[in-house]
Amino acid sequence: MVTTTSKITVRLVRNMGSDDAVLEAMLASTTDPDAAAKKIDEMTPEAKYGRIKYLCTHRHGTPFEHSAVTVACHLPAFVWWEWVRHRIGMSYNLESGRYKVLEPVFWVPPRDRPCVPVADWKPSRPRFITFDDATWSKEAADEAHRQTVAELTDVYTKAYSTYERLIAEGKGIANEVARAALPFAIYYSGYVTTNPRSLMHFLSLRTHEPESLFVSYPQLEIEVAARACESMLASLWPLTHKAFNACRRVAP
Ligand SMILES: Cc1cc2nc3c(=O)[nH]c(=O)nc-3n(C[C@H](O)[C@H](O)[C@H](O)COP(=O)(O)OP(=O)(O)OC[C@H]3O[C@@H](n4cnc5c(N)ncnc54)[C@H](O)[C@@H]3O)c2cc1C
Repeated sequence: MVTTTSKITVRLVRNMGSDDAVLEAMLASTTDPDAAAKKIDEMTPEAKYGRIKYLCTHRHGTPFEHSAVTVACHLPAFVWWEWVRHRIGMSYNLESGRYKVLEPVFWVPPRDRPCVPVADWKPSRPRFITFDDATWSKEAADEAHRQTVAELTDVYTKAYSTYERLIAEGKGIANEVARAALPFAIYYSGYVTTNPRSLMHFLSLRTHEPESLFVSYPQLEIEVAARACESMLASLWPLTHKAFNACRRVAP
């Protein structure tokens, strides 16, 4: 029996630093640390925002590296595959497919997920519509979704039973070999730690915002994960997040 789900889970584990930590690092160039702390205490929120926006506008990025956030994630392998391409300022630890037996949890598209390519689909601007928008009737849309999920689930069930059979006691087949049977939709859990600078770079590429200076077209599932991280940035570093948007989502 396999479990299918569409959930993209990104949970805050811990965070360190704040907008004030960005300002402290910025002031290091001219002010000793004690004096900097006092200066920051005396600043109005507007003055703080002005400084942070200056950093973003002029792409002085290093002050944003003195904070950190760690998230625990449960994601399909295809989302991890995209996330781990971000090499700079992102630290990863993932569940091992060599040392443990992976859980039979697989991704399926939710009913409202845009799944059907638009008529003028292009690789550089991949856009999709929902089953409802692609068909004339709700019944046809229901059926298209049902059949997609059924076919995927069928593959997952066969693949996972092959995996289980190969690693079953007595067969002597290593997990790391048997896992080759598993589809890309299997879930892995893992940890990511990053800093606001690298997070902004990640958000600039893994969210779709028409107002961005460089508009990106990421896959929906990594965008859901990125949006969860973005809400952490917005609540833990609100001035940084505001400045990032003011700079049309170009990371400093
Ligand atoms: C919509 C979309 C579609 C994509 N499609 C594909 C695809 O079809 N095939 C594919 O292979 N990838 C694809 N990617 C992944 C993409 O090529 C990047 O690997 C990924 O976005 C990480 O970006 P990055 O290298 O800027 O990030 P990081 O690795 O975090 O790097 C951050 C920055 O550090 C600097 N940097 C890092 N490493 C180097 C280096 N070696 N030399 C010089 N500067 C460096 C660069 O300025 C870089 O922007 C896609 C990404 C997106 C967002």
